Amino acid sequence: MDNKFDIVVIGGGHAGLEAAWIASQFNLRVGILTLPGIPIASAPCNPAVGGVGKGQVVRELDALGGIMGKLADLSAIQYRTLNESKGYAVQSTRVQIDKVAYAENAERAVEANKNISVIRCKVNKVIKSNELFHVETSVGDIESRSVVCTTGTFLAGNMHTGEEQTAGGRVDCEQVDSLDSIFASVSKLKTRFKTGTPARIKRKSIDFSKMESQPSDKSAINFHFDHDPYHRELEQVSCHLTRTNDDTLKIIRDNKERSPIFNGQIKGVGPRYCPSIEDKAYRYEEKNEHHVFVEPESLSLDTFYPNGISTSLPKEIQLDFIQTIAGLENAEIAVWGYAVEYDVVDTTKLDITLQSTEVPGLYFAGQVNGTSGYEEAAGQGYIAGVNAALKLLDREKLVLDRNESYIGVMIEDLVSNKRDEPYRLFTARSENRLFVREDNTIQRISPYRSSLGLNSKIDKYQMFYMEQFYDLYELCRTFTFVANRENKALFERYNFGSLKTNISMAELIKRSKLDPVKTLSILCKEFCIQYSSEIIRTTAITLKYDGYIDRAKIEQSRIARLDNKKINWKNLSESENVSFECRTRIKEIMPESFGQLKRIEGIRPATLVYVANNLV
Ligand SMILES: Cc1cc2nc3c(=O)[nH]c(=O)nc-3n(C[C@H](O)[C@H](O)[C@H](O)COP(=O)(O)OP(=O)(O)OC[C@H]3O[C@@H](n4cnc5c(N)ncnc54)[C@H](O)[C@@H]3O)c2cc1C
Repeated sequence: MDNKFDIVVIGGGHAGLEAAWIASQFNLRVGILTLPGIPIASAPCNPAVGGVGKGQVVRELDALGGIMGKLADLSAIQYRTLNESKGYAVQSTRVQIDKVAYAENAERAVEANKNISVIRCKVNKVIKSNELFHVETSVGDIESRSVVCTTGTFLAGNMHTGEEQTAGGRVDCEQVDSLDSIFASVSKLKTRFKTGTPARIKRKSIDFSKMESQPSDKSAINFHFDHDPYHRELEQVSCHLTRTNDDTLKIIRDNKERSPIFNGQIKGVGPRYCPSIEDKAYRYEEKNEHHVFVEPESLSLDTFYPNGISTSLPKEIQLDFIQTIAGLENAEIAVWGYAVEYDVVDTTKLDITLQSTEVPGLYFAGQVNGTSGYEEAAGQGYIAGVNAALKLLDREKLVLDRNESYIGVMIEDLVSNKRDEPYRLFTARSENRLFVREDNTIQRISPYRSSLGLNSKIDKYQMFYMEQFYDLYELCRTFTFVANRENKALFERYNFGSLKTNISMAELIKRSKLDPVKTLSILCKEFCIQYSSEIIRTTAITLKYDGYIDRAKIEQSRIARLDNKKINWKNLSESENVSFECRTRIKEIMPESFGQLKRIEGIRPATLVYVANNLV
């Protein structure tokens, strides 16, 4: 067994895999130390990747050279474009994944990577001395120059199903010690967090004829740059929609005192934006109808995931309420729902690269940082992994601007404030939503990727892509339709509206009644202009939103000029012009820019005015 690494990643979940994957691209020796019996990148909750705000993260990761998008395409069994009716700016891709295939593909990718070794073991202690980390594991001691901790829900994990409690981070998995017993001198949040999962239902016991079928969307675009955008690797299947009703919610409400979340048994705080069915029942007393998406877990398993009814009620009550739902009257349970409580790191003690300010060289990423979701975990894994590598190589850190990426939004949010509930990404967290879209990911992200200097296939692809984009964009702005008979006939033929005066192709594409992508596709065909469907799509959408974005940009550039100004937090934390409470927060968070200072909870307007007036 190798026992010396440049970077050790503890945990082979979504954060750990992404951290190891990017670090390995710098030719460093990376060890993934992960519990036996849990596949790499396994999905303990709903088997899906992407979604609103999260599809953007998957595409950002792909453009940065991450692996999540590739694995998602290879194991996708149903595609959907969410928010389709709300316009291109807020659309997101979501794929249902075959969780068995996903993990198998992840294992295969890691096995084929000569810079990554996987060691199945339990990490018991991490000690830093003489600039090296000594990692005590169940299979022996390991030494590393850097450590990325991505232990998910496992630290002092405690699972609940009704009155039953079992120590551990997931069903049938090994128990892991608490944060403080593994890492001395790393601060954890006082509150423990909690997440939960619904029961899994056997396929043969479900009556799909009583549910609404949701087939796979053929027009959704794959995540990975090197895949044909519409090729599907696996057979596509439908998800199904059903609903809870008065009877379902009555059973749950009648058993409130048996719910670990509400009878005081669970102390941890759960995600407000992904509530359990108990949360919905007790908090929204007037509402009895909630969506339940019945989602296949894998083509090779006979279990379904009923998305929307996560629960930790006792087993017999789970069965009772599930059997009130249309199509689930004869449901047989394969695995019972449960909730899990776990230790969470205080992320205000991490810097913008997710490195611990208490133990330099030690990074944290994923659910252990108080987030929830595979994409959030993977995004953080990338940032921790790439920065661990860059630091070892004595290179400039990689920080994604929050105005240019959802990953940037998440990282800054995490390190700027203590969490009082699990953090999830959604579009409203971004101030720049019209710009931070899925379709323009490469425009936004390629400068960051190329700054890594890795010069691989993706870098060449992005260079070519950007040239093509600028060519077509310029063509649309300069190509003019003269208001003559021929062009008027063309406008009529394609229902483009009237042509009274000369207009540019860009102006036509922006017309409110026209779909920009369809319009540009028609024009390209008509005039034999040859570009790929992705270039046509991103150019059309960029043109469409140019006006809004320009206005927003002027507004934002005023703010950004101030936001990007560097501040000296050390001086501020000692300044008598800043209140004691604000000085304490500044000392804790160590903000590097005015923008970061502004977003720290508890920083008073007077402090901001003082700092703004003293910026040079
Ligand atoms: C029960 C449950 C329900 C969930 N429900 C939802 C949901 O509804 N929606 C949602 O978006 N997300 C949900 N999640 C969260 C989602 O699964 C996680 O956000 C995501 O998997 C986190 O990825 P991660 O890489 O941080 O951690 P994980 O995927 O949990 O991976 C952690 C890894 O660390 C390893 N590990 C831990 N401790 C040690 C140790 N001491 N030594 C060696 N290896 C160790 C484990 O082997 C594992 O591979 C749920 C998770 C669970 C467990």
